[in-house]
Formats: sequence, structure tokens, C-alpha cells
Amino acid sequence: MSILGSGFSMKIGYGWDSHEFKRGVPLKIGGMTIPHSEGLSGHSDGDVLLHAVTDALLGAIAAPDIGTLFSPSDPRWKGADSAVFLTEAVKRVEAAGYAVANIDSTLVLAAPRIGPHAPAIRAHLANLLRIPADCVGLKAKTPEGLNLENTGLAHVVVLLEKIPSKKRKTSRRK
Ligand code: MG
Repeated sequence: MSILGSGFSMKIGYGWDSHEFKRGVPLKIGGMTIPHSEGLSGHSDGDVLLHAVTDALLGAIAAPDIGTLFSPSDPRWKGADSAVFLTEAVKRVEAAGYAVANIDSTLVLAAPRIGPHAPAIRAHLANLLRIPADCVGLKAKTPEGLNLENTGLAHVVVLLEKIPSKKRKTSRRK
């Protein structure tokens, strides 16, 4: 039982991911296509932020991780829109009886500057997670001292709150 009392419980989840920058690949971050000279490559669309959010959600409910559910060796996920992975993770969270309370994220990449795109990314992510945009934190840093100029990384924490069983049928919407 939570120290806050019966019927009230929260779960935390953490996820991170990294992908390599390559020329000729569109840059997808948080479900948005961002104009840049190169993009993050991967078996799917290489969306490092959506992958980290997905793993944080799955981790919070102790579900199998993104690589187990959506194997990079499976041709079904070649070039896939990573929103598919996130949507499945949200479904599993809801099936477990939880709703997303908020998330916080940090991107680490040398370029491009994320600031101008942050409001659109936050709004899109909020929409995918079905929470208000002020429940989506997004920060960006450059990889100083890490020698990772050719890499994009994302770190994400999520907080889930238990949905009282009588409210389970009417899932929370913004
Ligand atoms: Mg990934």
C-alpha cells in the first residue's frame, strides 16, 4: 500500500534511447519532422524521443521493453511511425489501470536547436499521451564533453497515477 493511503498509488518509469545522425534521413523528434541537414537513423523512423517515452511507459508498468515488443529485426517495423509504439504503450498503461500524470524529458544533441520546435513537440506529445501540454516537460542540451556530436539521445521519466476502478470505463481526457 502507498504511504499516501489505500486506493491512491503512483508509478514512475524511466526510458532512454540514442540514435546516430545520418544524411538523407528525415529528422523525427517527438513525432514532428524537424528541418535539418541530417536525421536520426534507425530501423523505424528513428524517433529517439518517442522511443524513450515508450520505454518509460512500459517500464512503469513492468511490461516488456520496446525492443522486445517491436524487434528491430522484424520487417513489420521497418520505417515505422514510432507513434505506433507509443500508442501501444499507452494502451498497456490503461489496461493496467493507470493514466499518465506527467512526463519530463531531456534531449541531448549538438544540432539543431530544439527551442523553436519545443512548443510543437510538446503539444504533439501531449496529444499522443492524452494529457495537457503543461504536463509534458521538454528540455534540450548539447553533448558537451561527451564526444557525441553525431548522436541524438533522449532521457524520459513518466509518472502514472492509478485510476479508481469505478472510473476505469471513462478514461481521462484533456
Ligand atoms: Mg530507438
